[in-house]
Amino acid sequence: MSTMTYKCPCCGAPLAFSGASGKLACASCGNEYDPDAIEALTGDSGSNIQFDRPEDGYSAGDAASMQAYTCEACGAELVTDGTTTATECPYCGSPTILPERISSGVRPEVVVPFKITKEQAQQQFEGYFQGKKLMPNVFLNSRNRVADMRKLYVPYWLFNCDARADMAFDAEREQVQRQGDWEITRTEHWLIRRAGGMSFKDIPVDGSEKMDDKISESLEPYDMREAVPFQPAVLAGAMADNADVNAEACESRAVERVERSVENTIRSTVKGYDRVSVRRSSIQSENGRVKPALMPVWLITTEKQEQGGKKTYTFAINGQTGELTCDVPYDRGKAAKWFLLFFAIITAAGLGLLALLDSLNMWFAPLLLAAVVAFAVVGSMQAKLKTAVRQSAAGNYLQRDSFHLEINEDRYLYTTTSKRRIQTQSGPKK
Ligand SMILES: [Zn+2]
Ligand SMILES: [Zn+2]
Repeated sequence: MSTMTYKCPCCGAPLAFSGASGKLACASCGNEYDPDAIEALTGDSGSNIQFDRPEDGYSAGDAASMQAYTCEACGAELVTDGTTTATECPYCGSPTILPERISSGVRPEVVVPFKITKEQAQQQFEGYFQGKKLMPNVFLNSRNRVADMRKLYVPYWLFNCDARADMAFDAEREQVQRQGDWEITRTEHWLIRRAGGMSFKDIPVDGSEKMDDKISESLEPYDMREAVPFQPAVLAGAMADNADVNAEACESRAVERVERSVENTIRSTVKGYDRVSVRRSSIQSENGRVKPALMPVWLITTEKQEQGGKKTYTFAINGQTGELTCDVPYDRGKAAKWFLLFFAIITAAGLGLLALLDSLNMWFAPLLLAAVVAFAVVGSMQAKLKTAVRQSAAGNYLQRDSFHLEINEDRYLYTTTSKRRIQTQSGPKK
């Protein structure tokens, strides 16, 4: 430790080791520190999370009892079992799908089977339209298209790993005291260090280019306890999409989610401070492995003419849990109409009342009230339209009992004091 110059965390001046106290002392501000604490301030930062990616193709046995299709319209590559005849593309609805021989593709290891029937999915879809006043008309018309609901197995990559994190935080604890006309704030500065491990199981990242990540992530979670080993017969009556985004390309998304979950989990063990910030964070993974899987989704797509061409909107229902998601925007025209309606009614009623009370000089009050109410009403209508959102972390996939702390240290560093003269002289305040 002697060859390196350490800086005082309080004032930045160089620290010198004092043989007498066994501490690092600052000649400039007079603080003294444990060498261990100072060492912990300056560890490595960064993360290194990796996954092995075994990718086996379909066996000859699989291929014999499977059928592949390519959609001429959107390019989707699909597979199903030999007994199912596909008549339209599950993504775009095009009937021009051409049968092909199974040639490429990654063999899924596991499949989560459908539990939600077509009838249940249709009910879910119908129910979604109830009370949605801002739903664009084109989608209201698409209710008639529930018959086109398509049963699709979406390819996912499931990421598993054990993660080890070593993090340091700067934490502050504040105490405010009054002495006469002065308010004195004492801030204790602490260095917090936590190191520990945790395991993640089956973090899903969809491997389909045609499936928007926002849609697939808002369909989560799937209960993997119901997953079965893949065999072609599982696909009967449904289509499966071949993974066209490889595991390597999906890995960064899994890494992002692992990092955020690890940091959240470790951070949640730092308690009792007024302010906490991350000083450094280092995350390593072990036993990282990715496995290909198929997840059940009921899909309805609707095309809408917009400026710049047709846009495809998607309704998707998790085939295991019934969770519905969509990327349907609210109708701006309808929102404006509802706003004006409420605004006009409240303004008219308010002005009428003021006229009766002979106080029309208050005319602005009903206008203001009307604007606020109309805004709130339209806002609540908007909130009823669920829109797909991405998941920020992988907390759902953290194995709770796998979390353990190996280093759990809170080290006091130094205290700063600041004084402020209190302006008011009107006696002590609580
Ligand atoms: Zn100092
Ligand atoms: Zn298609």
